[in-house]
Amino acid sequence: RFITFEGGEGAGKSTQLKLLAAALAGQGRDVLPTREPGGATGAEEIRKLLVSGEPGRWDGVTEALLHFAARRDHLTRTVWPALDAGRWVVSDRFADSTMAYQGYGHGLGREPIERLYGVTVGDFAPDLTLILDIPPGTGVARAHSRRDGEDRYERMDLGFHERLREGFLDIASREPGRCVVIDACGTVEQVHAAVLDAVTQRCPS
Ligand code: C5P
Repeated sequence: RFITFEGGEGAGKSTQLKLLAAALAGQGRDVLPTREPGGATGAEEIRKLLVSGEPGRWDGVTEALLHFAARRDHLTRTVWPALDAGRWVVSDRFADSTMAYQGYGHGLGREPIERLYGVTVGDFAPDLTLILDIPPGTGVARAHSRRDGEDRYERMDLGFHERLREGFLDIASREPGRCVVIDACGTVEQVHAAVLDAVTQRCPS
């Protein structure tokens, strides 16, 4: 099983991923937590190129290509081998982030991202995508209080974060069979309960 977490800044993806991974492991599943951009040696090197440096260092297409290059490395070195070995892979971000950030947020549009997806990922897709939804003002404030040093996008204007949120919601409405939108405004425990609910319903085995 391949489960992905998506959402904007400060939605709580990494916290919820840890809790879900622990819950699944508690059910006796062999779980591999991972993240994008990153999750493999080469992909983590590409991540450094993406998150360091000033905003606007890369133009939108270059940025999308770097994300897909990292994704290809992550899939071939980490995700696909783990799935072949029967493990459950849970990823903090996947391709919907590229669609939302570069496609909607930075205005590249859906089509180029869909084409890059076809080349890089093919017919493969997550079994379940959990979209953590939060109003941008709340999420950005949370992300600022975190100060993890990788805050390039947290400095983008609120309009960017609004487009991001619309993007994620649009993706979810286009693919209701794969995506579940989860209200991420509640407490950590409330959001975790909603996440577990969705996983139990959509991925029973
Ligand atoms: O998931 P995390 O918040 O750690 O992502 C690292 C950084 O990369 C964030 O600033 C995020 O906004 C950004 N990002 C991006 N485009 C993507 C995925 C992540 O700009 N496709």
